[in-house]
Amino acid sequence: KSRNPQPAAGQAAQADPPLPRQNSKTAPPSPPAIIRDLNRVHAFTRLGFLGEGGFARVYEALDARGGHHAIKVVTKTSLKTKKAKTKLYAEIKIHRSLDHPNIVRFRECFEDTENVYMTLELCDAGSLMDLLRRRKRFTEPEARFFMVQLIGACNYMHDNQVIHRDLKLGNLFLDKNMNVKVGDFGLAALIENPGERKKTICGTPNYIAPEVLFDTANGHSFEVDTWSNGVILYTLLVGKPPFQTKDVKTIYQRIKANDYEFPADRPINVDAKELIASILTPDPRERPSLENILDHRWFTHGIVPASIPKSALDYAPDFR
Ligand code: ADP
Repeated sequence: KSRNPQPAAGQAAQADPPLPRQNSKTAPPSPPAIIRDLNRVHAFTRLGFLGEGGFARVYEALDARGGHHAIKVVTKTSLKTKKAKTKLYAEIKIHRSLDHPNIVRFRECFEDTENVYMTLELCDAGSLMDLLRRRKRFTEPEARFFMVQLIGACNYMHDNQVIHRDLKLGNLFLDKNMNVKVGDFGLAALIENPGERKKTICGTPNYIAPEVLFDTANGHSFEVDTWSNGVILYTLLVGKPPFQTKDVKTIYQRIKANDYEFPADRPINVDAKELIASILTPDPRERPSLENILDHRWFTHGIVPASIPKSALDYAPDFR
């Protein structure tokens, strides 16, 4: 996951790679095979490695009753600075407050001498980014299904004053029933006073809203997530993000100029194009609300499947 408080010019952005972890030469030791907290209340058996992000490694873990979880491990050595601690506490505070079927459930948080652990709902089927790599692109019914669930999660977050700020395919996970689960609240922000604007430049280059980069005086708010939803919809249907180029500087220029095209070699539904264009409106005040998006013709005049078969992990399902 790229977390860049400062946009890193020149960094390759092909697959939205995580920024290299600090001191990447000295990989931290693996967490213990049996993970216990200092008070020995919790005990989890560590199973396979699931992935790593900007500052955490994630494993599958088994609890004493045989339940499967994901366990996010942050080494205490990476939490030496006050800034790093504040950031982790903010992530925990926001994530544990959320309870929605399309948000990765935060279960508990504890520590041993070496690490801080967070147990999360396990998302067996990986991220939508992994799946897009395998599938190249999704069918329109699949895209509608994923977007309805994502927008439901966003609506809930925004109702609870939370802006995610890093919505992208790599942070949308799938559980064993192919339901979308929004994860990684490492850049999320809580709007504590109505009308408050956030000023920190953060996000992932391909998905970042123009006002985050170019209207730092005014700041940004909930509409940055709406923008990312537009980038996500484009990416699901086309197979790559709209503003993608080899270097971050050019991505930002293209975002500023609203410079994106639909591929000429493959038809994209005109309703989908129209919806994407309306979401990718540079002025955040002119972007549609999440309800408006779901009321758009592309959703109301097309197939929205009730579920996605597991076969979709390998090939395009047929919903006719
Ligand atoms: P970071 O906060 O360090 O960016 P993430 O929360 O994005 O870490 O997790 C890093 C990786 O771990 C993800 O890209 C994914 O591969 C895996 N992962 C994270 N959460 C889960 C989960 N709940 N279920 C399954 N895999 C997960």
